[in-house]
Amino acid sequence: MFLFTLFMVPSCRVLIDNLQAALDAQFDSQARTASHSYVKYNNWNTVKSRIYHIITLNPDLVSRSVIGKTYEGRPMYLLKLGKNGANKKAIFMDCGFHAREWISPAFCQWFVKEAVETYGKDSVMTTLLDKLDFYVLPVVNIDGYVYTWTNDRMWRKTRSKNAGTTCIGTDPNRNFDAGWCTLGASDYPCSSTYCGSAPESEKETKALADFIREHLSTIKAYLTIHSYSQLLLFPYSYTYNFISHLMCSYSFPVKLCLISSPTDPAAGGSDDWAYDQGIKYSFTFELRDTGRYGFLLPESQIKPTCEETFLAVKYIANYVLEHLY
Ligand SMILES: [Zn+2]
Repeated sequence: MFLFTLFMVPSCRVLIDNLQAALDAQFDSQARTASHSYVKYNNWNTVKSRIYHIITLNPDLVSRSVIGKTYEGRPMYLLKLGKNGANKKAIFMDCGFHAREWISPAFCQWFVKEAVETYGKDSVMTTLLDKLDFYVLPVVNIDGYVYTWTNDRMWRKTRSKNAGTTCIGTDPNRNFDAGWCTLGASDYPCSSTYCGSAPESEKETKALADFIREHLSTIKAYLTIHSYSQLLLFPYSYTYNFISHLMCSYSFPVKLCLISSPTDPAAGGSDDWAYDQGIKYSFTFELRDTGRYGFLLPESQIKPTCEETFLAVKYIANYVLEHLY
């Protein structure tokens, strides 16, 4: 099976010439168990039971709420990490906007594990959880994620029906009310970057946006985890009128960054929207790799990817904490 992958504009080159081999190669972890493992990819049911497990083991650090339901009716679980305290500010982080970006939910799970395991041992993490709360949405687009396990590994969008066509789904990261559908998004329902019939037409994006709107006085940073490219992006992506992307060498904590104008403008993204709500620290992470495996990142890269990203998130969180007022 051969696939010619278009990579950015204007030039094209083949990155993965044998998709089936890459599909097989992603499962290269030694941990071939049916149960949950942080160094392999886990399906939604396994993620869900791990969430429950971690709350049971750490009731003083982790709690769970449901912020809405997906199009197919799955509850959207939001985790809250942090010690009880009055008037705490918070950092919001989500994973799994785009269904096929499996490394993203893997990172949110890793983050929760690492946070609870290092609390009381690592002084920075202890201070962070004492003084801040982390809201972690482990998978935004659960329906899409489930579909990548059951039907189509390369699925990206939600699974909602569109009027007047058999084409399914909206790109949830083109569905926010931030320059909606003006740049780098499509109004054609069959497109993989379909912006939806209106901003927040998707139940998943509406639930996320509602939660952030309701907690605007406490949320001081918004982090959204995608793949792939190994970039850290900050607003705006919906206009060329601002200095936009922060392109960083992938050695976190962030040291070597070059500011550039957007190479891939995209309107309706959650980071731009959160920034427009007044959340000053709003970043999109594009995790590994740079195209060798793309969305089919082998499981053997989960640990190093999560370790370096964990450092970056910790670094940003600590910066936010030190610059709260
Ligand atoms: Zn993405």
